[in-house]
Amino acid sequence: MSKILFLRDMSIKDYHDSAIYLAKQTEDIDDNDNLSDNNIEIESEILSLPGIKYDNLPKYFIDKDTWIETTNLCCLYCGITIGENPWPYITSAEENANLQTVYEVNGLFCSPPCIKNYINPQHEQALRLTIKVVSKLIGITCEDIPRGENKQQLIRYSGIGLTDKEFKENNMKTWIAFLNNTNGGGY
Ligand SMILES: [Zn+2]
Repeated sequence: MSKILFLRDMSIKDYHDSAIYLAKQTEDIDDNDNLSDNNIEIESEILSLPGIKYDNLPKYFIDKDTWIETTNLCCLYCGITIGENPWPYITSAEENANLQTVYEVNGLFCSPPCIKNYINPQHEQALRLTIKVVSKLIGITCEDIPRGENKQQLIRYSGIGLTDKEFKENNMKTWIAFLNNTNGGGY
């Protein structure tokens, strides 16, 4: 696909109009059939311009072995692209035909502390089920998850503060320290 420089205040509509204009310059404008075919091609290229093909959100969590290892989806709390080790947000659970508990996934997080920051404490079921699945992912039963950095600490929101990388590192440090405190340093 050709690279397009988007200038300030230039919209996709402007690009569209100029692309059609260019097509008209290069086509035999008396040949209407060819021109409209060309426009259809331009139209389909424009539709794919945003360029990012996002992964599909997994519908369910069943166990660690079948859970995804990476994703290009974003954290429900802080908006960072998750990458490795996505943590699921669980809102309900049921048994499937094989008598396995199947947990319904409604989003992903970059780190467990982002889960705690996101979930309304009044949504007790979501918090309880999500902690249960986090426990399955790490192989340790957790009673709780610590809160993490407030996302307003991110440079992205105020121009000063933490980079995305620092934000995630701080949250993972908080998480590891929490596990060490609650499990005698065994994690
Ligand atoms: Zn996050």
